[in-house]
Amino acid sequence: MGKLKLVSHILCNRNIFYKASKIALVVGIILNLINQGEYLIHLDFEHVNFYKLGFTFMVPFCVSTYTAITMKMKYHVGEKALLCADLTCENCHGTQEVKRDEIIPFCHKCQDKTSWKIKEIKDINVKCRD
Ligand SMILES: [Zn+2]
Repeated sequence: MGKLKLVSHILCNRNIFYKASKIALVVGIILNLINQGEYLIHLDFEHVNFYKLGFTFMVPFCVSTYTAITMKMKYHVGEKALLCADLTCENCHGTQEVKRDEIIPFCHKCQDKTSWKIKEIKDINVKCRD
């Protein structure tokens, strides 16, 4: 349940939406030209498959959004914590609490080999922000 809070917090980020939209626009146009270019260039809309046209924009949007979410789901050392969370070190299983916007520290035992995994998201109120 806690990870859903983090996903919804990440999805509220306008930058992710705008970047995914830009990628979908560019990649969607290129892929549509590759797949149905002969019909689109000649404006032969009777032969254009509009389901394919739409999905060709949707797929890069979804892949880009999914990638952004999975990248931000990981709490990396030196980055700001998106939400207050309890972290577990994947190497030594040590724990660390981080507050929202706090810089994520190294594990005391593992130092530069630190790899944090989210144990629990502790923020109760998840608000959208830019
Ligand atoms: Zn550790």
